[in-house]
Amino acid sequence: MTTHRTIIVGGGLAGLSAAHTLLENGKKVLLLDKKPSLGGNSVKASSGINGAGTEAQHELNINDTIEAFSSDTTTSAGALARPALITALTSNSAPAISWLTSQLGIDLSVVSRLGGHSVARTHRDKSGAPGWAITSALMKKLAAAAAENASVEIVKNARVMRLLEDAGRVIGVEYETVDGKVEEHGDVIIATGGYAADFSAGGLLATHRPDLLPLSTTNGDHATGDGHRLVSSLSRPAALCDLDQVQVHPTGFVDPANVDAKTKFLAAEALRGVGGLIIDREGNRFVNEVDRRDVVTERMEAIIREGRGPVRLVLNKEAAGEIKSHCDFYVSKGLMKLFNNAKEFSESSGIALDNLTATFTQHTQFASGKGEDPFGKPIFHNANYSIDEPIHVASITPVVHYTMGGISVDAAARALDVAGNPIPGLYAAGEVIGGVHGQNRLAGSSLLEAVVFGRLAGQAAVGSV
Ligand SMILES: Cc1cc2nc3c(=O)[nH]c(=O)nc-3n(C[C@H](O)[C@H](O)[C@H](O)COP(=O)(O)OP(=O)(O)OC[C@H]3O[C@@H](n4cnc5c(N)ncnc54)[C@H](O)[C@@H]3O)c2cc1C
Repeated sequence: MTTHRTIIVGGGLAGLSAAHTLLENGKKVLLLDKKPSLGGNSVKASSGINGAGTEAQHELNINDTIEAFSSDTTTSAGALARPALITALTSNSAPAISWLTSQLGIDLSVVSRLGGHSVARTHRDKSGAPGWAITSALMKKLAAAAAENASVEIVKNARVMRLLEDAGRVIGVEYETVDGKVEEHGDVIIATGGYAADFSAGGLLATHRPDLLPLSTTNGDHATGDGHRLVSSLSRPAALCDLDQVQVHPTGFVDPANVDAKTKFLAAEALRGVGGLIIDREGNRFVNEVDRRDVVTERMEAIIREGRGPVRLVLNKEAAGEIKSHCDFYVSKGLMKLFNNAKEFSESSGIALDNLTATFTQHTQFASGKGEDPFGKPIFHNANYSIDEPIHVASITPVVHYTMGGISVDAAARALDVAGNPIPGLYAAGEVIGGVHGQNRLAGSSLLEAVVFGRLAGQAAVGSV
């Protein structure tokens, strides 16, 4: 049994989940993050975290099962579905939510049905900023533990540059701080996030998805695939999989004050979940708004190619009311505009009021069962759109959002070499791992992946020999 501290590279939700799991098991931890503050992309998450068979679902009379969640995930993952990883994700989902709510006291009582899910299973807090609610609670608790005892040390502004190895085993890291290079020995958990902000020449996007280079990203500038490079540089490298599988999110906000910004705010998935409509430049719908991200993105891209952009997201009074804190925030940032009625919006946008009237009337009729929605919308929520009521409107565009590919792991979060064997001393969790979501990640499954695989990696490192 190793006597060293376990080294966690990356202080987002995956790294934090691993750290707490190790501490719960009496182990010592060193957590390194290259940025001045922890949290990564995890603090930005705005829609929520999935769980099947949770206490909150039970309270809300939502019937859900691991099998249903697995089936939705498998359908979404398509030809690249990996059953063992999907089972690990879904079967650990309710325990993950329970760990966050019962043991860490995080509110996850609001449950929504988002694109690609057959039931409502995406949990969020009442404040509407679930990434922050979850991640900041874990950060606070870890900082308190670090202040109280020597079992955990957190070093910020510490960029891991290299993994140390000995006879096929990973034995530590070399990291850089302002004071120079430091070597630390111990098992390593890689939790560095994805590469959706790696627009560098010769970088992972340029190599695997050069077609996406012109798009903007929702990710922080840390998301540059460092972990992928660290494990590839080993003399016994870890395998990387599905690197060309990059999720483009349909709804990045186009900021009227900075239309070409490379980093864009995400218009939360939940905006469509609560009943938002997507319309083209003439005010016509063209897609089932609650379809999966890849499907909605594909339709939007086609519309933009056909010259039918800009594409806009419209929320009626009830939908905006249900997600009020989000809308208030977006309006305060100038990303969303509130109009008193459709006429005001028509005058501002140049869209004919008759078109808006037709779109609103038809949607309301489809929702009440009069006629079939031509885009196959299966569920209607806050569906009655009136031209006389206030509406929130935003311009949206597809953005690089999440990278499905990454380090190959088994269902215990052990990093695998190219022959499929675990590399001793090396674990990986969170967005840096590949294969869990196949061709498409469902909304809410990445925070879940961070918690589930973070905890699995922590548990695997506890048992390390
Ligand atoms: C705007 C936005 C909204 C989202 N909303 C949702 C949502 O509602 N639900 C959902 O499930 N998912 C959502 N996602 C995706 C989800 O937030 C991320 O996939 C997930 O948080 C990744 O967690 P992580 O711990 O793996 O990585 P991150 O949280 O990105 O953390 C990685 C950390 O590693 C550090 N790091 C990187 N390289 C090094 C290095 N060389 N040395 C030291 N440290 C390093 C970084 O500084 C960072 O702190 C959203 C993403 C974005 C961008």
